[in-house]
Amino acid sequence: MQTINQLDLLRDNIAALRKNGKRLALVPTMGALHAGHMALVEEAKRHADAVVVSIFVNPTQFGPNEDLDAYPRTLERDSDLLRAAEIALLWAPQAATIYPEGFATKVHVDGPSAGYCGGARPGHFDGVALIVAKLFNQVTPDVALFGEKDFQQLAVIRRMALDLDFGLEIVGVPIVRDEDGLALSSRNAYLSLDERRNALALPRALHDAADRIRSGADVAGTLAAASADILSSGFAQVDYFALADSRSLEPLTHYDGRSARLLAAAKIGKTRLIDNIAL
Ligand code: AMP
Repeated sequence: MQTINQLDLLRDNIAALRKNGKRLALVPTMGALHAGHMALVEEAKRHADAVVVSIFVNPTQFGPNEDLDAYPRTLERDSDLLRAAEIALLWAPQAATIYPEGFATKVHVDGPSAGYCGGARPGHFDGVALIVAKLFNQVTPDVALFGEKDFQQLAVIRRMALDLDFGLEIVGVPIVRDEDGLALSSRNAYLSLDERRNALALPRALHDAADRIRSGADVAGTLAAASADILSSGFAQVDYFALADSRSLEPLTHYDGRSARLLAAAKIGKTRLIDNIAL
């Protein structure tokens, strides 16, 4: 595994891999790697001959009062994990390499960016779309892998890749959970022991609501009851608990058996957790 933090070196290394006819996969991350990220890496190996993982805590996707400075940074440990997974390149640029002085370009994806995390975190998906578009241009992968954990992000990136003719395959990877059901997240590291225990209310509420809606319960009533359950289990705030079409993310008020997803985001203490489940 080569670790690279200069763009010209990245380009040279990508060109060398391409010269050998290799199919390239990209796995974008913000580091603090866990088994969820590593599942993306393993899936990437099944889709390509060489895997590039990027680690970049992208400032443009954090709001002014969010956790950019506190976000866990564990580059040495991450490198060890990626080396053991036998990836080809670790792309770990500095912020000044990605956003040089005078940087002035924005990328905005309408449609799937609206509502949910897009409503609760204004500008978040513009930052995500911008960094992912840049990574696609830098790495020129044949396939890029993203977790269903960030379900709205996956929808935004699929839309952007189509709209901007990136001509690569986008693969969504199922959520990896801890043994007790909590979705793995770098932000779980912020949770106190009590919060970690209470956080289970989120996947439990999603699971129960999915069961109820599948068996014909009223959608609005089920969503409201799920939010109330989460709040009574130690969460301070529910940003949203919604039923959406799996591709367009249009909100659904009725379940008609087509591909749908329950999406939720809630705050426990100062930590914002997101999760989702297929119907
Ligand atoms: P992040 O480092 O949080 O930006 O995540 C990098 C990638 O890993 C994104 O595509 C996430 O959706 C994915 N990811 C994070 N957590 C999980 C998880 N528990 N299961 C599957 N994918 C995940």
